Amino acid sequence: MTAFRESEPLAPRTTLRVGGPAARLVEATTADDLVDAVLEARDSGDDWLVLGGGSNVVIGDDGVDGTVIVAASRGIERLPDAPGSSRAIRLRVQAGEPWDELVARTVENGWAGLEAMSGIPGSTGAAPIQNIGAYGQEVAESLVAVEVLDDDGQRRTLPAPALRLGYRSSVLKHGGTRAVVLSVDLALEASPDARSRPIRYAQLAEALGVDLGQSAPLVGVRAAVLRLRSSKGMVLDAADPDSVSAGSFFTNPIVSESFARTLPVEAPRFVVEPEPPTLAVPLGSDPVRPPVPIERHVKLSAAWLIERASIVRGFALPGSRAAVSKKHTLALVNTGGATAAEIAQLARYIQTRVMSEFGVVLQPEPVLVGLEL
Ligand SMILES: Cc1cc2nc3c(=O)[nH]c(=O)nc-3n(C[C@H](O)[C@H](O)[C@H](O)COP(=O)(O)OP(=O)(O)OC[C@H]3O[C@@H](n4cnc5c(N)ncnc54)[C@H](O)[C@@H]3O)c2cc1C
Repeated sequence: MTAFRESEPLAPRTTLRVGGPAARLVEATTADDLVDAVLEARDSGDDWLVLGGGSNVVIGDDGVDGTVIVAASRGIERLPDAPGSSRAIRLRVQAGEPWDELVARTVENGWAGLEAMSGIPGSTGAAPIQNIGAYGQEVAESLVAVEVLDDDGQRRTLPAPALRLGYRSSVLKHGGTRAVVLSVDLALEASPDARSRPIRYAQLAEALGVDLGQSAPLVGVRAAVLRLRSSKGMVLDAADPDSVSAGSFFTNPIVSESFARTLPVEAPRFVVEPEPPTLAVPLGSDPVRPPVPIERHVKLSAAWLIERASIVRGFALPGSRAAVSKKHTLALVNTGGATAAEIAQLARYIQTRVMSEFGVVLQPEPVLVGLEL
């Protein structure tokens, strides 16, 4: 079924609560309706945009002079198991299925693979768009394929590698394609004793009282993740003003290792590419030329850079209703009645401070619609 509205306010449909209206809004509750709505909007020549839970967008104050199509198709289908595979449980999930409800269901069933991503807001269809991840797990590890409505108006199934999922990125987010995700196929581990995948995030391991690399009961992992996230305002909660955000506003910058050496020694950094292979030279063989050194990449901590640029939690520009969260340096919050322009002004200020201090340009994580930084 498809619901149609005109001049529909968009701010209440986003977690940051900013943005002007959509000229038209269509709510599509089945995959077929979603396809029809997108094809119709395309054919009309109007601007169009697919929206899920609105938790990773910042919509400009002028709104969208076109059609916003809300992917509201629900459903979780169990596909035939893949015997012999370590991830034998196969699920097909419709785009509009709320992500955290899906995670809760997998945990209840004793299926491992999504538990550390408990509490991430938004829809399942948006999960591959930026390859969501948290606490050492990302959707790329469980994603098998997506069904999309392609740029050319055809429905097709794309295997996960075709999406080139990376750190908070995919071809769907950055590749210029306007493919619409209709459903997502996942492969999960049937855990007979309902235990998690190995814990890979130190803070989570500590909260669970296990060593890194060990597993823990799935329900315990979900509860611990939700507690940790709540303490940072990272679970949507009407009673928590620090959760009125789009999650982390900036991604952790990835820079060359040589650039990273110019930063203060205490700046956190993590190598993101494997070490070049060591070259074994058999004894007695002719000397070989040393391999050309490979420039490795290093991930920096955006939160550390912001804090060291003297921007503290709770910071706001004079008279502005946009602020840095009091619980999480990376989240920008709407403290009440903020405009998208105020959010953008604060984001630019932070970018400028970090740029002048460290020479790093922070990149926004949410998708900006009708707004520039
Ligand atoms: C409090 C909070 C905490 C968060 N924590 C995390 C976290 O830990 N890790 C993380 O990775 N993210 C996090 N996020 C960001 C966000 O929840 C995820 O990116 C989520 O996947 C966005 O889903 P959505 O349905 O709300 O997408 P939307 O915000 O509605 O859309 C985001 C983008 O995806 C596109 N899109 C949406 N649905 C489709 C579709 N079916 N087909 C094609 N394109 C589509 C939209 O056009 C838009 O460009 C957080 C956000 C908030 C508010």
